[in-house]
Amino acid sequence: MHKLIRKEYINENLFKIFFDKKDLKFFPGQHFSLSIPNKSINREYSSYTSSNDKELGFLIRRVEGGIMSNLLDKMEVGDELNIYGPYGSFVLKDEYIENKQIIFIASGTGIAPFVSMKETYNLDNYKLFVGIRETRDLADAEKFDESKSYYCISREDNISKNNHYKGRINNQLEKIEYIKDYENSIYMICGNSYMISDVYDILVKEKKINPNNIITESFF
Ligand SMILES: Cc1cc2nc3c(=O)[nH]c(=O)nc-3n(C[C@H](O)[C@H](O)[C@H](O)COP(=O)(O)OP(=O)(O)OC[C@H]3O[C@@H](n4cnc5c(N)ncnc54)[C@H](O)[C@@H]3O)c2cc1C
Repeated sequence: MHKLIRKEYINENLFKIFFDKKDLKFFPGQHFSLSIPNKSINREYSSYTSSNDKELGFLIRRVEGGIMSNLLDKMEVGDELNIYGPYGSFVLKDEYIENKQIIFIASGTGIAPFVSMKETYNLDNYKLFVGIRETRDLADAEKFDESKSYYCISREDNISKNNHYKGRINNQLEKIEYIKDYENSIYMICGNSYMISDVYDILVKEKKINPNNIITESFF
């Protein structure tokens, strides 16, 4: 069992939750299965903290009517749950870290594994595209270089920051030629399955990116 050490709320529906890690080891981008004792329910959550941290953290969106995300929202410091894993292969190979530009593309909490990767490997050769509905849903922008990040905000009209854009991720990726060496980059896409499939089509069909250079992780 792993004890809840602290929680941080970004807004009432978006929060970070940190557990004692014990001897769990993982590669950034892998996910864990969280299970609350006596509830016989479990859900997957991607690693959000660095592999080197003492705590194991997750970035959670509280889903209206959702079972697990609401139970996590109600958990208090000192409460315990079971954490199984790690699982999955949504990870960066050494050759990518050393030789490739990595293009991270996330919707919502899909940014979690990219925070874990950035923090663990101290990456420099990357670009980040994030799709959110409103500015208040922005998580961890300060952990990424402003000149390398593009925030696509779908439900707000007054966009005030340089790297904030009105619209969806697709609108930015349709003109991806402005990114140097975009043809040979590695693309990691994470979040909502509709976003993943839209972005995949743009990259492969329109921009002729080799599908072998695209790695995806679907949350729902
Ligand atoms: C590999 C993997 C990694 C994941 N990592 C994360 C993570 O880091 N953070 C995170 O918040 N979730 C993550 N999820 C989603 C998570 O497992 C749950 O599906 C989510 O928390 C909803 O569970 P629930 O029990 O609250 O909702 P349920 O009672 O299972 O109801 C689910 C309903 O909510 C929808 N839904 C699920 N997730 C969302 C969402 N984020 N926004 C809107 N609707 C949603 C589903 O399509 C479904 O209709 C991940 C899923 C997978 C498969």
